[in-house]
Amino acid sequence: MIFRQLFDPESATYTYILADRGTQEAVIIDPVRDQVERDTEILEQLGLNLLFVLETHVHADHVTSAGVLRRRFGAKIASGRHGGPDCADMLLQHGELVRFGGCSLEIRETPGHTSGCTTYVLGDRKMAFTGDALLIRGCGRTDFQQGDARTLYRSVHDQILSLPADTLLYPAHDYKGRTVTSVAEELRYNPRLGANKTVEEFVEIMANLNLAKPKKIEEALPANLRCGLSAEDTVSGEPLPERAWAAISRTVGGVPEVGPQWLNVHPEEVRVIDVREPHELRAGRIKGVENVPLGAIKQVASGWDANEPLVLVCRSGGRSGRAAIELEALGFRRVASLRGGMIDWVQQKFEVAL
Ligand code: FE
Repeated sequence: MIFRQLFDPESATYTYILADRGTQEAVIIDPVRDQVERDTEILEQLGLNLLFVLETHVHADHVTSAGVLRRRFGAKIASGRHGGPDCADMLLQHGELVRFGGCSLEIRETPGHTSGCTTYVLGDRKMAFTGDALLIRGCGRTDFQQGDARTLYRSVHDQILSLPADTLLYPAHDYKGRTVTSVAEELRYNPRLGANKTVEEFVEIMANLNLAKPKKIEEALPANLRCGLSAEDTVSGEPLPERAWAAISRTVGGVPEVGPQWLNVHPEEVRVIDVREPHELRAGRIKGVENVPLGAIKQVASGWDANEPLVLVCRSGGRSGRAAIELEALGFRRVASLRGGMIDWVQQKFEVAL
């Protein structure tokens, strides 16, 4: 097997590349957006075929490059089933296997740091990738993102420290320059979870950490729920994809929007989708729209060309904004919500069909 451990100094995050030597099929675990050029180069230079981007959880301290790697390599994004981001292609269940060539990783749910934390255990149990559930001589915090100390204690003991004593454990972070540990070492020396600490002692320790909020949480959480495809998605110097097709602006929440004037002048250049419920269209709609209610859009759009320019419409711009974000997360490159929806369209006296 090919194995690489990579480090992002700013967030102290480890990224791992694993690949089958024979088939060159690969996975990458917890890639960081600031390092996407480095990781792309390594994958290309090693001639790897990236099948999966695996997230151990929705990170609060850095932005993932999952969405960018999916676009570049056609990889699928996979994450734990509980609390995984909507933009993932696969939500993994406890006990499932992710296969690449002759290698595989077993999915173990290890909630407690977040509700969706996943540990990936290599098929031969020689290595496990623990995310923030278990760190070297430590563990992830349990005071936000649905964290819970009791749950974490149980996860770590049942799913990680129950592995063979010589299983090597690779965490998502280290702040002291350490790179790897083992089950035996953590059982003996982990000051929170090893050394026969009881669950009560652990809960007490975790309740008294008094940690500051992570610096990047406001940026990282929403971006990671979009698989890292945030409004400032200009990695590798590629222009924002929408610049080429319409006068797009972004809301504070990251929703790409076009104004009614623009749509009124360019109706032939885009496919207009009304995401309201069918009965709402009877009050008036934009000429030539197709109707796909918000609840069905992800499924219906999965059969569409992701490069086709789409403008989404609803009553006021709320539902169409959500639809735009969902479609961007699915990989649609030219999608926008009509600013102000039908309310503004009517107010500006543009043509309404009945
Ligand atoms: Fe974390």
